[in-house]
Amino acid sequence: MTDLDSAVWPMSVSRSAEGVLAIGGTDARALAAEYGTPQWVVDEADFRARATAFRESFEAAFAPLGAAVDVYYAGKAFLCTAVARWVSDEGLRLDTCTAGELAVAIRAGVPGAHIGVHGNNKSDGEIARALDYGVGRIVLDSTAEIARVADAAAERGIRAAVMLRITTGVHAGGHEFVATAHEDQKFGVSIAGGQALAALQGILARPELELLGIHCHIGSQIQDVAAFEATARRMLELRAALAATTGVLVPEVDLGGGYGISYRPGERGLPIELAAQAIAETVGTVCQELGTPVPRISIEPGRAIAGPSTFTLYRVGVVKPVTLEDGTVRMYVSVDGGMSDNPRPIMYGSEYTAVIANRVSRAAPVLCRVVGKHCESGDIVIRDIQLPGDIAPGDLLAVPGTGAYGRSMASNYNLVPRPPVVAVREHTSRVIVRRETVADLLALDVG
Ligand SMILES: *Cc1c(COP(=O)(O)O)cnc(C)c1O
Repeated sequence: MTDLDSAVWPMSVSRSAEGVLAIGGTDARALAAEYGTPQWVVDEADFRARATAFRESFEAAFAPLGAAVDVYYAGKAFLCTAVARWVSDEGLRLDTCTAGELAVAIRAGVPGAHIGVHGNNKSDGEIARALDYGVGRIVLDSTAEIARVADAAAERGIRAAVMLRITTGVHAGGHEFVATAHEDQKFGVSIAGGQALAALQGILARPELELLGIHCHIGSQIQDVAAFEATARRMLELRAALAATTGVLVPEVDLGGGYGISYRPGERGLPIELAAQAIAETVGTVCQELGTPVPRISIEPGRAIAGPSTFTLYRVGVVKPVTLEDGTVRMYVSVDGGMSDNPRPIMYGSEYTAVIANRVSRAAPVLCRVVGKHCESGDIVIRDIQLPGDIAPGDLLAVPGTGAYGRSMASNYNLVPRPPVVAVREHTSRVIVRRETVADLLALDVG
């Protein structure tokens, strides 16, 4: 069956002899029957393989430079204890950016040394928890945080390992990137006007802080490796400038996440092995130009690990033909979820694909719009898609590429309980995040 483009579906997905979508050897109809719809279905082997591919590709690319690489999975893409264990098993570390994400990492037993803590507005409680758990690094996001983290470390009689988030002027995402000198966004400290250099000197002046290095993250869904190369150059130049003014050559540089994936057939994600090689080559060249040794490198992929590992399984409800002004008909296909489980279309205009999961159809395709069940006309899952003309209430619809920023950004809009995440592996399935219930929602309402 050829309706499943391997670039957008988890690797174990196929069509069974009867034409039913199967994942990890488990039939989509059986998953729907056992766990209900909607549900997110994650292919555990696929998730682990993508995590490993990042680690191995970057380690291999940097090995000739004699540089070690740490891969931090960006937990904000999708985090639960099972996922924290998967990435730890595969030799990755974990990035968190709130007390909630840190709590999941701690519950999963991720060692403090393997946890990074981000955030542009960390609370005192978050800083305290991070220090008390002994996280490997806190990424300072502003000059104000220097004193706050240093004071909190002093109170505990410890030294806190920190990095400084740098805004490099390179912004990327989608198919383009721009590099500018000046910054107008909330994250980090700008290289422009010597601001980053001054902040780094401020960190070095506090003996309670151990400056591990400099950190950046330039955007998300980046398709063009040139954006990472431009960023690496700016970061390494800053590192050399700091060494020139203070004599301190920081040992680490973090180049962030943002690796793009394909959401629809024909789209091209960023090939990880090639990206790793290109970035390593740039780092090697620039370090040679600057006469500085190659730093330890870290990267922080989220979407490119979690996104393609998962699809959302919906049940089709109302199917309604709507005649447009030009006389053509658009079929509105309503599913039992929508913007509460996938806010990306309404937030970013993101586009997805879908297939009927419970059968193959030979009916001629018709123009469809897949919509959710929320009280909002913008509640669209897929704006324009050709689906078989016999699509009908009761069919299962699978939408791939929903593993990142789906469950993690899901809401309870219209008091819709959030769907479960079901992990499949070698003919078995299990719930790793259970379905929310109306009772859960009512429990929050204390009158
Ligand atoms: C969001 C984020 C990431 C991950 O981005 P992806 O696009 O999911 O790879 C990494 N690092 C930081 C600091 C982030 O904010």
